[in-house]
Amino acid sequence: MSPEIKTCLNCGKPIVGRVDKKFCDDQCRNTFNNQQSAASNNLIRNINHALKKNRNILEALIPEGDELTKTTRDRLLRAGFQFKYFTHLYQNKKGNLYHYCYDFGYLALEGDWFLVVKGKEI
Ligand SMILES: [Zn+2]
Repeated sequence: MSPEIKTCLNCGKPIVGRVDKKFCDDQCRNTFNNQQSAASNNLIRNINHALKKNRNILEALIPEGDELTKTTRDRLLRAGFQFKYFTHLYQNKKGNLYHYCYDFGYLALEGDWFLVVKGKEI
């Protein structure tokens, strides 16, 4: 029975030695781990940015001194709003489900209309 040939996760070269080794040396392990964490940091940064942008779009829609406003899906999309990103949900007693981006939220209304609210219910 020939032993299974394992290859380094970083450079792909065959690994000699212990069965549980994943890298040929410390340098390959460090390079690989740094790239992994750079990728996940990048992902987190992008999502945080999208969430903040969503929040700022909602905030900008509400007129100064008001607590809420109505807007359309089109207007949100044109501003760069990304519906897939929100921080939490809130359901009121009537069963209406609000999506929040930090302290600003929205509720889908009839048609393509949305109610945008300044969040008190967090
Ligand atoms: Zn290697």
